[in-house]
Amino acid sequence: MLLDRILERNRNYVESDAKQIPTSEDFKRIGLLYCMDPRLTGVVEPAMGFAPGEVVVLRNAGNQVLPESRDVLRSIAMSVLHQGLTDFIVLGHTDCGMSKFDETETVQRLEQEGVDPEEATGDKKIAEWFGAVDDIEENVRKTIWAIRACPLISDKLNLHGMIIDTKTGALRKVDMS
Ligand SMILES: [Zn+2]
Repeated sequence: MLLDRILERNRNYVESDAKQIPTSEDFKRIGLLYCMDPRLTGVVEPAMGFAPGEVVVLRNAGNQVLPESRDVLRSIAMSVLHQGLTDFIVLGHTDCGMSKFDETETVQRLEQEGVDPEEATGDKKIAEWFGAVDDIEENVRKTIWAIRACPLISDKLNLHGMIIDTKTGALRKVDMS
C-alpha cells in the first residue's frame, strides 16, 4: 500500500540527523511560481541559489493564472500581507508539457474516462480550459500581467520573469516589453 510505504520511509526521515527543517528566519521575502513538472522538483531552488525555506513556492500546470482562477493570486496576496514578500518571480521552463498540449489526444483520454469534454468544459474550448501554452515566454508575461492586474496585490511587489532550461538548469531573463 502506498501510504504504508510512505509511513515506513517517514519513520526513517523523522529519525534522520540529515533532515533540514527551515525556520522563519531563513525566509528571504521572495516568491516563485513554476510548473508542477516533476523534473523541476529539487532543481529550481538550488539552480537559483535558494536553500529550503528561503522562498515561497507556488506550482501549477504551466505556471499560470487563468482568468477564473484566484488561487495563485490569493496565495501571493497572503504572502505580501503576512510574510512581507517584496519580489515575485514567474518561472517558465523549456519543454513544458502545457506547450505541447494535444487537444485530440486529451479529448480521447477524457472520453476513455467516461467524460463528455464538451459538457464538462462548458463554453470554453478544451485547450483554453486546460490553459494550453503557445509560447513559454509570452505565457510568463501573461502570468505577470495577471498578477499586476490583481487589485489585492500591492503595486510595490516587484515582478520578474525567467525561463529555466529543463535539461541543464540554466536560467535566463524574460524580456517584459
Ligand atoms: Zn511545465
